[in-house]
Amino acid sequence: MIEVSKKCIGCAKCVPVCPFAAINMIDKKATMNEACTLCGACVQVCPVQAITITREEASTRDLSGYKGVWVYVELSEAGDKTHPKKIKQVTFELLSEGRKLADRLGEELCAVLMTDKDHNYEKELGAYGADKVYLVEHDELFEYNTDIFSTVMVSLVTRHKPSVILYGATIQGRDLAPRVASTLYVGLTADCTALSIKDGLLLQSRPAFGGNIMADILAPNSRPQMATVRPNVMKMGEPVHGRAALTVRESAKLDKSLRRVKVLERKIDHGSGAVKIENANVIVSGGRGMKTREKFHQLEELSKLLGGVVGASRAAVDLGFKEKTHQVGQSGTTVSPKLYLSFGISGAVQHIVGMKASDVIVAVNKDPNAPIFNVAKYGIVGDAHEIVPKLIEALKKGK
Ligand SMILES: Cc1cc2nc3c(=O)[nH]c(=O)nc-3n(C[C@H](O)[C@H](O)[C@H](O)COP(=O)(O)OP(=O)(O)OC[C@H]3O[C@@H](n4cnc5c(N)ncnc54)[C@H](O)[C@@H]3O)c2cc1C
Repeated sequence: MIEVSKKCIGCAKCVPVCPFAAINMIDKKATMNEACTLCGACVQVCPVQAITITREEASTRDLSGYKGVWVYVELSEAGDKTHPKKIKQVTFELLSEGRKLADRLGEELCAVLMTDKDHNYEKELGAYGADKVYLVEHDELFEYNTDIFSTVMVSLVTRHKPSVILYGATIQGRDLAPRVASTLYVGLTADCTALSIKDGLLLQSRPAFGGNIMADILAPNSRPQMATVRPNVMKMGEPVHGRAALTVRESAKLDKSLRRVKVLERKIDHGSGAVKIENANVIVSGGRGMKTREKFHQLEELSKLLGGVVGASRAAVDLGFKEKTHQVGQSGTTVSPKLYLSFGISGAVQHIVGMKASDVIVAVNKDPNAPIFNVAKYGIVGDAHEIVPKLIEALKKGK
């Protein structure tokens, strides 16, 4: 329920920010009509806090009307007429996982796309499993912005009542999902490593207590059930080209004044042009067992010969063998290369959660009981300092 108290001074600042033209000034007081979706945009701009929204107690709500699995579509930042923004891979990973959840529930899988210009994205979204695409096209959606995107998302949710929403645990997703959760007063499970359906509810699994146990989280009393998942955690399915998604165009009346943060300057770090660890096909990773920074550098040579990138355990990073940006694991990056080579890494659970989705894992460790062997396809019990130079030599000889 939305209420306007006597504090209202009739400034009318709430009128232009309402995306649904749901506010009229009557007798110098803001009055909401039936188009109001309780999105909260007016609450944010009221200078005298005269507008309040009271949401129903979670446990007393009828949740049966909430249906469907939604995936927030994340687009790359940069884009122009010749190089339109691209859908980020994490979206396809979430659609592939969302497809399984939607099938288990017997409900629709929907993609939520907010953009200033549609570039026929629905085709790709359909190919990766979306039944429906909610498309909001508006000039104000030219780049990601917390206020604008969360307002649109909340209004879509209020209008269509999805049961589940998945976001990438990316800079955007980690910003958007909590804002939506707090506005709707629902829960959010961050960094899930597995999702499934249990008794019709979304079972959200994630490491807890420093990764030592897996917690299974259910949200029986609120909707939508919301989760973020890091890139590379869910496997991307094969696209079915020609599989069409139904496009549902949604209108949004967005006013510039909603945008409280403005980007004044953009400095893009193009880096060294090297492949980022999260996108690498081959990762050669080292741990404390590599002993010294110098010995760790041998992994650079090996990874170059394999056309890969160097990864590191947290212990190796803490010892200064490699920069933090190369850390694989729970507090580093989650990776899923085609080939993951590990040298002198024990296989602590916090490391495993970040690399277990790799296609082929090869582990070298001198301890036959090292836990890394539990996830490795090929294991070599031996001294990394002997094996790495031999591998380099063999690759150089082209063996
Ligand atoms: C909240 C939290 C978050 C964390 N996040 C991460 C994370 O993101 N990533 C991460 O990696 N860790 C993380 N950790 C740390 C994690 O628990 C481990 O401490 C860490 O992964 C250990 O790194 P390691 O395997 O290199 O070292 P160790 O556990 O010390 O293992 C070294 C291994 O090298 C082997 N070895 C030694 N000499 C040789 C040799 N000559 N040849 C072959 N093998 C040899 C040993 O047998 C041993 O198995 C986190 C911990 C916490 C509490």
